[in-house]
Amino acid sequence: MSLLTIEGVWKDFGDHSVLRGIDLEVRPHEVVSLIGASGSGKSTLLRCVNLLETVDDGAIHLDGQEITDPRVNVDGVRKRLGMVFQAFNLFPHMSVLDNITLAPRQVHKVARERAEEHAMELLGRFGLADKARAYPDQLSGGQQQRVAIIRALATGPRLMLLDEVTSALDPELVTEVIALIKELKESGMTMIVTTHEMSICRDISDTVCFLDDGVLLEKGPPEQIFTEPEHDRTRSFLRSVL
Ligand code: ADP
Ligand code: MG
Repeated sequence: MSLLTIEGVWKDFGDHSVLRGIDLEVRPHEVVSLIGASGSGKSTLLRCVNLLETVDDGAIHLDGQEITDPRVNVDGVRKRLGMVFQAFNLFPHMSVLDNITLAPRQVHKVARERAEEHAMELLGRFGLADKARAYPDQLSGGQQQRVAIIRALATGPRLMLLDEVTSALDPELVTEVIALIKELKESGMTMIVTTHEMSICRDISDTVCFLDDGVLLEKGPPEQIFTEPEHDRTRSFLRSVL
């Protein structure tokens, strides 16, 4: 069974239809990446999954529950999702440890000691244990983004949504963030990732989806999309970015 099912999703901003009938299934442990030109609707689709946007038509199911049902408990849905954006969005006045334990303690009502133990486990696993007491401005961009991903993991999400998480980083810092994403993949985490870096996409994805002006035009394993795309529009997009 799919972990996430997106069926016929439409999203309009004024008279601009930004998502036009998106269908997508994400299986447990699958890494799906969304590629497409700037403005094609990648971020909006992630925001619809996270209920930061309401859909105008269609439905999204998470673990069999329709999360686009207006009666749904939005906080309950978000507890099962971890979202990380391009800008690191760490709280600058809080230590790494406090950034990571904030949601477990406040939203999930985990005791401080247990939350800190779990945070330290995660930091250790990703090679950042010595940064627990540091403040965000004492970290490199790559370290900050890794902490942001760890923060999203700390609540035990079913699905991670990563939106251009390497785009704001200097090239030499991208590798460490990709290594973390790969390790997450190996540990079985289900993820939807947007990126404009095709090498990253090829490297981490089970399935690549090409969005063209709000339409999911083509999807398949990276070998197929990158070597023999079916659509001319996919081909010309890839030519423009490769
Ligand atoms: P991508 O992430 O693929 O670059 P986005 O999902 O950010 O694309 O945007 C898709 C389109 O929706 C763009 O034309 C963008 O200007 C528009 N858009 C996104 N968010 C809003 C909003 N809150 N209000 C109006 N238009 C928006
Ligand atoms: Mg975007």
